[in-house]
Amino acid sequence: HTREAIAVYDDYLGGHRRLPSLAGLDAREISAWFGERQVLDRVSLDMKAGRVTALIGPSGCGKSTFLRILNRMHELIPGATLAGEVLLDGVDIYDAARRLTDARRQVGMVFQKPNPFPAMSIYDNVVAGLKLTGRRAGRAEKDALVEECLTKAGLWREVADRLRQPGGALSGGQQQRLCIARSLAVRPRVLLMDEPCSALDPTSTRVVEETIKELVAEVTIVIVTHNMQQAQRVSDHCAFFLAEQGQPGYIVEHGPTDAMFHAPQDPRTSDYVNGRF
Ligand code: ADP
Ligand code: MG
Repeated sequence: HTREAIAVYDDYLGGHRRLPSLAGLDAREISAWFGERQVLDRVSLDMKAGRVTALIGPSGCGKSTFLRILNRMHELIPGATLAGEVLLDGVDIYDAARRLTDARRQVGMVFQKPNPFPAMSIYDNVVAGLKLTGRRAGRAEKDALVEECLTKAGLWREVADRLRQPGGALSGGQQQRLCIARSLAVRPRVLLMDEPCSALDPTSTRVVEETIKELVAEVTIVIVTHNMQQAQRVSDHCAFFLAEQGQPGYIVEHGPTDAMFHAPQDPRTSDYVNGRF
């Protein structure tokens, strides 16, 4: 029985919840272009399972482009091309035999601006993704899923008695947590978050940060943030992106978050994390 197996596994790991299904994302030599213009140059980053990896760096250095490449959204942009490979649990998501929807389902995305379906109920927002995956779920299963995902997103207690209200009626911070719940409902193995707190007030930001720290026990997380305190609070590993004027973005250095902030190898990293540019 799966639950028992997981309980035994948890016990074995000394109570640290590490589900056996955790998967990492390994990006190798990723380059990207919009038309003729190259915006990423051979970016390699191993985003290991069970970690929060933070992507930091100035605007325009390709962080969002890199995230979109990690779940095959980049190829939807007209004129966008790329080179390199992205291994999810060792298998290239760009492999011709692999379906696009499969990559999208396994690697979810949460954006800067909360984007729930505003007219759709909170309940329907959470289960919306199930249709896209072609999975049929009964009412009881959906009810359980809605409670589970809203709980994980830290929103259940606030909305349990009004699941039929429209998603658009929630506050910004609640909408962002609803988007997280919606992502979780298709059981992704990796969750990409592109400045998920930039549009939120400090209180909502803290709630989302706590959610991230709990979620990483079951889904690998990659987060773009401009907030250096946030990067230090939530991430285990950090990558510093940079792009010189008119040049493609690349990674200056990456490593454990503590080292990046307190003993960076490159003076530019030191300048950036200390707010000097
Ligand atoms: P970041 O998220 O680090 O701010 P982006 O990945 O958004 O950086 O952008 C990297 C570069 O690619 C920028 O120069 C930006 O102008 C360009 N870019 C981003 N999206 C597009 C697009 N859809 N078409 C053309 N250029 C784009
Ligand atoms: Mg961006």
